[in-house]
Amino acid sequence: MSVQVLAAKMAEVELKDVPSKELTPESPLTPKADDKGIVENEPKAIVTSTTTPTMEPIVKTGDPSPGFLTPNPKMPQASAMKRTDPQQNGGEAFVNRDGTVAEAPRLKKIQFADQKQEFNKRPTKIGRRSLSRSISQSSTDSYGSAASYTDSSDDETSPRDKQQKNSKGNGDFCIKNIKQADFGRREIEIAEQEMPALMALRKRAQGEKPLAGAKVVGCTHITAQTAVLMETLSALGAQCRWAACNIYSTQNEVAAALAEGGFSVFAWKGESEDDFWWCIDRCVNLEGWQPNMILDDGGDLTHWIYKKYPNMFKKIKGIVEESVTGVHRLYQLSKAGKLCVPAMNVNDSVTKQKFDNLYCCRESILDGLKRTTDVMFGGKQVVVCGYGEVGKGCCAALKAMGSIVYVTEIDPICALQACMDGFRLVKLNEVIRQVDIVITCTGNKNVVLREYLDRMKNGCIVCNMGHSNTEIDVASLRTPELTWERVRSQVDHVIWPDGKRIVLLAEGRLLNLSCSTVPTFVLSITATTQALALIELYNAPEGRYKQDVYLLPKKMDEYVASLHLPTFDAHLTELSDEQAKYLGLNKNGPFKPNYYRY
Ligand code: NAD
Repeated sequence: MSVQVLAAKMAEVELKDVPSKELTPESPLTPKADDKGIVENEPKAIVTSTTTPTMEPIVKTGDPSPGFLTPNPKMPQASAMKRTDPQQNGGEAFVNRDGTVAEAPRLKKIQFADQKQEFNKRPTKIGRRSLSRSISQSSTDSYGSAASYTDSSDDETSPRDKQQKNSKGNGDFCIKNIKQADFGRREIEIAEQEMPALMALRKRAQGEKPLAGAKVVGCTHITAQTAVLMETLSALGAQCRWAACNIYSTQNEVAAALAEGGFSVFAWKGESEDDFWWCIDRCVNLEGWQPNMILDDGGDLTHWIYKKYPNMFKKIKGIVEESVTGVHRLYQLSKAGKLCVPAMNVNDSVTKQKFDNLYCCRESILDGLKRTTDVMFGGKQVVVCGYGEVGKGCCAALKAMGSIVYVTEIDPICALQACMDGFRLVKLNEVIRQVDIVITCTGNKNVVLREYLDRMKNGCIVCNMGHSNTEIDVASLRTPELTWERVRSQVDHVIWPDGKRIVLLAEGRLLNLSCSTVPTFVLSITATTQALALIELYNAPEGRYKQDVYLLPKKMDEYVASLHLPTFDAHLTELSDEQAKYLGLNKNGPFKPNYYRY
């Protein structure tokens, strides 16, 4: 039986199991009320827990516990849950003990490059580059450079200067080259194979359109995986207009396939900053069409609408946001009382956090190192800084390849985990002379300082898997006595006067996002969460969600996971009535309290 059929079957079983008590008929794909009909009429929006031990950071949780969720009588209902912290997100956003969100120390806020919006006065190439400081960090982070196989450098004409139409004569898009559509379609078909849950939602939706009437404006990476999401939203009844959230990450051929399929896409690889905002504006500023849902990654689209078209929020039913940065901005808006619609924080869903950080990095660390250096891992000595989710993934992969792995940590709990997983816990200075590879995964800054770089052995590979480019003090290497040699794309040799050289990857930016691709299956989990968040917000009855930031109900997290299980021919055990009673659970979930750490 094919993956898709299995997934569809699974979804059907899942959906049959959950009665529709609290659901509007328009939301057939949403997990439904529990059998016993224990419902809460009021969502618990942003509840500050009083049940948390005082030593834990107290955080307002966004779990709305909408009506169809059954509170577990044994568990504290509004458990405090870490939303995000400096270690987890690279210092971009964190929550104070009183539950307020603190200013982000290293977050570059959006500054609108050209508030006058003189799009026609386009800067020269040099001018374009000089503007790049004023868009958000996430928009410029080098991402997925290996993702697009199309080399379109031969065509220097800006897509904005081209008049293109698809085969049906529709020209409501702006992309690099519509002729690449067939190639892009094949890329999308490959991605579909690894996105079973979205394919199951499509099958499930035949005849039912939970997003009928939804006008979704999106701003995400435009890749084959996003295309599968967009086509799923469309199959569920939504109209979509889309821009890229990153000026480098668009797969031109995929954008072409989407445009050929009738989607209004405004994106190409290598946009200038001016192009970036122009594309976003083209998505939202259209006569006779107004969005009623936002799907954002990084917050730039949301902020553009706030700045330029605030009246649009009268019709917008909700925002779904994926990234740490975007979520932080939403919490800031909420705190300032300026959030005018409900928002779903997808970033902090368990199914995103756990899978993106641990499994994605476990797979992509080897890919990134291999593509850049062709290094053999067996027997190599590697030090991994930080044993959080990302560090655990990297260590597991390297250990499996036969590397000798050392770990550095500041937190005794993670340190103990490293020890018990069989890794030697060391201080960086104890091993820095002997290791072959140094990998940072802390989300912290200045973890690998110049003094360590000076002491590394010849040929040592240095790279970062954590936040942005703060972990390795790359700036300290830009001194006159050191010579930089670009040996491959994203690979620099930094050479000391005595001839010693280190191999610096991606100039200290995230290795996997810069030098490898990310597993589609992991992206599938996030994309399914986004789709369900849109369905939930779009179909929620008036009053379920207020103008605040919410986490997707845990039951939906569980549903996202269950939709992916058939891929593995996994057979989930069902609770017996007796067991369910014993544990105080509903047989259909949710199976864990919010504070459960997995
Ligand atoms: P985490 O908080 O679970 O782990 C970070 C660990 O680093 C913590 O255990 C912390 O105690 C430790 N640490 C902090 N400072 C340290 C120091 N000076 N020396 C040694 N250890 C130190 O976070 P995570 O989920 O593992 O994410 C880590 C970083 O990776 C974050 O910046 C996150 O945004 C980023 N991230 C990257 C990817 C990717 O694809 N590359 C994916 C997800 C997250």
